[in-house]
Amino acid sequence: MKILVPVKRVIDYNVKPRVKSDGSGVDLANVKMSINPFDEIAVEEAIRIKEAGKATEIVVVSIGPAKAQDVLRSALAMGADRAILVETDADLEPLAVAKILKAIALEVAPDLVILGKQAIDDDSNQTGQMLAALLARPQGTFASKVDIDGGHVVVTREVDGGLETIRLTLPAIVTTDLRLNEPRYASLPNIMKAKKKPLEVRALADCGVDATPRLKVLRVTEPPVRAGGVKVADVDALVAILKEVGVA
Ligand code: AMP
Repeated sequence: MKILVPVKRVIDYNVKPRVKSDGSGVDLANVKMSINPFDEIAVEEAIRIKEAGKATEIVVVSIGPAKAQDVLRSALAMGADRAILVETDADLEPLAVAKILKAIALEVAPDLVILGKQAIDDDSNQTGQMLAALLARPQGTFASKVDIDGGHVVVTREVDGGLETIRLTLPAIVTTDLRLNEPRYASLPNIMKAKKKPLEVRALADCGVDATPRLKVLRVTEPPVRAGGVKVADVDALVAILKEVGVA
């Protein structure tokens, strides 16, 4: 069984994003970039399935600039077997990404594709669902548990107010939620070994996909600045203020 894991290079989750002065987007100049956290969870899950003897190969794929090779090397250091970079400097929308992933999936022929539930830069939460539709495959989104059971995958999903368990026939698409697992750190020997694992770079034009944007970003704004707090002397003063602002 083969597993395909798409990983996106995004602004590191510890970095506070700054909006460009013209409001056209987030300023990425000199900002630390890392593997999307949900994709790291997806790589970890694929490795655990392989370690359990239920998968034979893990292929990771990223669509992005040449520097996205870094996130692919990180995934290889964790334990993926080979990587594909579809190189482009364009900022692609989820539909274009899903179409490219479809082309890669038709070539790699994975039994399972595990994506993150969302990329933390654009928070779209669309690619996995679109890929499932384009490939006409069953999907289990927001997975907090994944079990391979013969020709099926049993996915426990985090839904409002509880958990839902579904059984999908392979080949299938799964997207990861935060509680699925805790990704491992790559050891130094594995980081060194990852440098020798195959990483194929190809041009976006070779995928034969129309990646023309269909959406126009009108503006990006920072969240409103929070007003400062007030320190009160005692409970009576607190109650008086709460009454004053009309919440008590
Ligand atoms: P999104 O729909 O943009 O929130 O992304 C959901 C998931 O799709 C991510 O967690 C990745 O697994 C995958 N994905 C999105 N964009 C890319 C990309 N440029 N390269 C590889 N995988 C991607």
